[in-house]
Amino acid sequence: MYFFPIQYDEPLFRPPSEANAAIVQATLGCSWNSCAFCNMYETKKFKVRPFDDVRHDIAALAKAMPTARKVFLADGNAFVLSYDKLMPIVSAIKEHFGKVHRISAYALPGNILAKTHEQLCELRANGLTLLYIGVESGDNDLLAMINKSETAESTLEGISKAHAAGIDTSVMIINGLGGQKYSQQHALNSANLVSQLNPKFLSTLTLFTPHGLNQFQTQFKGDFIPQTQVEQLNELRLFIEHLELDGTIFRSNHVSNSVGLEGVLPKDKATILTTLNQVIAQVNNWPQSNGIRNLGRY
Ligand code: SF4
Repeated sequence: MYFFPIQYDEPLFRPPSEANAAIVQATLGCSWNSCAFCNMYETKKFKVRPFDDVRHDIAALAKAMPTARKVFLADGNAFVLSYDKLMPIVSAIKEHFGKVHRISAYALPGNILAKTHEQLCELRANGLTLLYIGVESGDNDLLAMINKSETAESTLEGISKAHAAGIDTSVMIINGLGGQKYSQQHALNSANLVSQLNPKFLSTLTLFTPHGLNQFQTQFKGDFIPQTQVEQLNELRLFIEHLELDGTIFRSNHVSNSVGLEGVLPKDKATILTTLNQVIAQVNNWPQSNGIRNLGRY
């Protein structure tokens, strides 16, 4: 029987790249918990865990995973914690995990803006070197409709502030977020914002609607027109075409994506676009597919 040293408050989520990390729940749930497309923490009421409980988990995990090099702070946006609450946690991780080289957390841009440059630098100096940020879109119309609590401007300001302190970011964009009507402005404004951010990591996910299409229709005042998969892939192509990045590691390999893509941008941009073009052409050639047939996973 597998023994795990601590009891998590389920459900527990972490980014795919933190698969081997020790996961420490510093907070429970998401302090915002209101994005139209997200049901990750709908069963949880946001809570800051007492430091003694967090420290207990850190010590127990460190004993069980003495060679862990990554520690991820859960849940939804643990970076919402104030500097005064985060620093003792980061210090305890450094004290117990002898080999840790990266501490990371989910964050909203507003959580970054709530800290001073000096506080961010101090967190960075003590090992908190990566933030995962669901930017979702660079288009303000869409950000308002999905109830994101951020704008393109606040996102640019917040992420730039993290970068200025030496903290890297991993940025996520949702393909298909605006349906047919907003597809072009979503792709172009997202490419524009991400290009200004130039994050270390960029990934795309594809929209799914856990609360059903009706909720989306309500948020969009009836304006949400679902896309075919080919339309979503065309949108992804437009987004990638307009990215101007310098050494960003791109991954579009989430389970929600119908085509798996990855590479370093701009070096692999042409290869990625060629792959996308091939898949789009192939789907368009399927008899009676009409671009609608479920692609499965490439
Ligand atoms: S901020 Fe993130 S975790 Fe919270 S509701 Fe929005 S998408 Fe979900």
